[in-house]
Amino acid sequence: MAPSVPARSETGDPLLLTPGPLTTSATVKQAMVHDWGSRDAGFIAINKMVLEKICELAGGQGTHVTVPVQGSGTFAVEAMITSFVPRTGKLLVLMNGAYGQRARRIAEIAGRGVAALETPEDTPPDLARLEATLKADPAITHVFAVHCETTSGILNPIREIALLVQRLGRRLLVDSMSAFGAIEIDARAVPYDALAASSNKCLEGVPGLGFVVCRREALAECKGNATTLVLDLHDQAEGFAKTGQYRFTPPIHVIAALGRAIEEHAVEGGVAGRGRRYRENARVLIDGMRAMGFRTLLGDTLQAPIIVTFHMPSDPRFRFQRFYDGLKDRGYVIYPGKLTVADSFRMGCIGRLYPHHMLGALQAVREVLDEMRVTNGGPALAAE
Ligand SMILES: *Cc1c(COP(=O)(O)O)cnc(C)c1O
Repeated sequence: MAPSVPARSETGDPLLLTPGPLTTSATVKQAMVHDWGSRDAGFIAINKMVLEKICELAGGQGTHVTVPVQGSGTFAVEAMITSFVPRTGKLLVLMNGAYGQRARRIAEIAGRGVAALETPEDTPPDLARLEATLKADPAITHVFAVHCETTSGILNPIREIALLVQRLGRRLLVDSMSAFGAIEIDARAVPYDALAASSNKCLEGVPGLGFVVCRREALAECKGNATTLVLDLHDQAEGFAKTGQYRFTPPIHVIAALGRAIEEHAVEGGVAGRGRRYRENARVLIDGMRAMGFRTLLGDTLQAPIIVTFHMPSDPRFRFQRFYDGLKDRGYVIYPGKLTVADSFRMGCIGRLYPHHMLGALQAVREVLDEMRVTNGGPALAAE
């Protein structure tokens, strides 16, 4: 039996232990209770602050500019690829999960040349193969890498990738969607042409705005590359430079909420403070789950403190749907796995969640296991 008072967020909602949308603070949601015209000076000031703060968080003051894209994170990724890779260019995609695969699909649909280097979902990109591939194929103009591959929760070695790509004279596009704001990626140390992220992951805003942090000199070369009107980052940036405004209706409320979320991010201590809370969340979660026998897909050195993949328990009494529903009844929403290498489920550490929420989730896991009479959450070891 689920307890009569399930866990709830500040606004009375179940807690989202998912890769997004995520639990947000009450104050972030309250920032949305006004209407602004898109030419309202108050809104324009909020938007300007948001774009500048994002650029600062990226370490790009003076060298980079944030170009927003209405829509979810994938809209920003598609805008980045199709605005930066010229129509005659070729993109090498480093793939170890669904988001790398998605990037390849975007480039294919846009008619760009594409190559891919794939490693299993629990394995970082192979830098020696990357080097050999770039040396062997001079047609490759750009490399695409995912910072934290949310499919598994793996942290890819983005700095090493960036330095290698730079050394071999190619351009890097980064999907830092699920890391930006909590795991440092500083443009002064990690050279890239563009980095995509969104309002609703580690910045803890609400969903609806993607953005691309662009190296100014590289963006200036992008005129005419885009193969869509709405996702043309060069044109969008020109619009801002000329009028300070979006070309098309902006998600005003989302941007107001993001402004508030960025203030709360600063209060927490910026990237370092946000990252510290997420690392504590992940540590509490992983230790507690391991104590019940669960096994993480990744070893601790590859695990980002963003989302954790657990092997499905092998006890025949374990039923994932019952597990999921039992946790939901107790106020915790988890996420099914999306892996090809193993049967799994995921639990997120990001959003407005604190270590005491993780302890509550562990208690709920214990109760649901007890209901199913599962004593050990471990997977079968046969395949090891
Ligand atoms: C969440 C996420 C995206 C974007 O997903 P949307 O559903 O479009 O917001 C892209 N890449 C990664 C790595 C992500 O975690």
